[in-house]
Amino acid sequence: RGMSSVTIPPPACMLRPLEAPFRYLFGPGPSNVPPRVLAAGGRPIIGHMHSEMFGIMNDIKKGIQYAFQTSNNMTLAMSGSGHTAMECAVFNIVEPGESVLVAINGIWGERVAEIAERMGAKVHTLVKAPGGHFTNAEIEQALAKHKPVLFFLTHGESSSGLVHPVDGVGDICHKYNCLLLVDSVASLGAAPLLMDQQNIDILYTGSQKALNAPPGTAPISFSERACHKMFNRKTKPVSYLLDMTHLSNYWGNDGKPQRIYHHTGPVSGFFALRESLAILAETGLENSWKHHTEVAEYLWKGLEDLGLKLPSVTTIAIPEGYNWKELLAYIMKHHQIEFTGGLGPSVGMVLRIGLMGYNCNKANAAMALAALEDALKQCRKSKA
Ligand code: PMP
Repeated sequence: RGMSSVTIPPPACMLRPLEAPFRYLFGPGPSNVPPRVLAAGGRPIIGHMHSEMFGIMNDIKKGIQYAFQTSNNMTLAMSGSGHTAMECAVFNIVEPGESVLVAINGIWGERVAEIAERMGAKVHTLVKAPGGHFTNAEIEQALAKHKPVLFFLTHGESSSGLVHPVDGVGDICHKYNCLLLVDSVASLGAAPLLMDQQNIDILYTGSQKALNAPPGTAPISFSERACHKMFNRKTKPVSYLLDMTHLSNYWGNDGKPQRIYHHTGPVSGFFALRESLAILAETGLENSWKHHTEVAEYLWKGLEDLGLKLPSVTTIAIPEGYNWKELLAYIMKHHQIEFTGGLGPSVGMVLRIGLMGYNCNKANAAMALAALEDALKQCRKSKA
């Protein structure tokens, strides 16, 4: 008939219903999503350019300003996971050939260094073993030496379980005419961070950790200083999708009367993100920090943790003589609980237990401890 016929049959798996088991997500994220946030994400969608959607985006912007403690106008949520925000920050701030300094003490610095390298930046690194701290003096020395336009630091290093101090770093950066970029994907809502007071120029987080929204959106904010650099560049950012001139218009941040179509935002993801930011606003940031610390301390009492003090994600040394993969598999199979191993440089060194937001309570901490204890009894000590 001229029209070719279908030669690939419908796959058998597609004729079966979706199966997604219940799991206790006590790893470093995603975390379990509270019913209220799931319900928000399950509401009938509206158009991404409807006025009601812009109203919801305006609410999200206010919710992020509260969560970040910033009055930055250039505040929005990325359509995409935490990595989208990492790339957005680097691509918009840095031009090819410019110098970037990255603090690496776990996987997240490694990733940002690679992102910056791929877009043609001159990347310099300050490296410590996973869990290591950088002193402000070390940071200052490196800034003086490399004269970067951007310095990256991870606040909650989820691959090592470290919460890194940020006080004073912004001021040092500004002394050297450098912008400070901070990753708070794993720490936002769990450990104190104050964007404006701590002079952070670019801050981002993810939806799926202490905020307890489904993965897929990522709050980000830019200071006036950061805006000045990114909106006065000579070259266009390498990514069209992540270009802040477009995104600032889409989020109504550029002062123009009209929002112009750029891409179709994740409508359901934004509904869920709005709800999770509403929960944080109702709870209060200080209560949220205090609560995460109390539950983490309760967990730490039952464990020999590494003492790195990230309240959302606790790292413990792999118990002597055990195979970590076997422990994790046992706990998943018999307790329906996800813990995880290390990531990047911490693989094979640690186990990680995350109790964030909705999952953050003593009953869950007790359940996590009991599951680990059971696994240590039941799993064979390996020869290795
Ligand atoms: N930074 C940190 C500190 C993280 O913990 C994560 C997620 N594990 C990311 C960045 C990346 O986020 P995503 O997986 O949402 O892209």
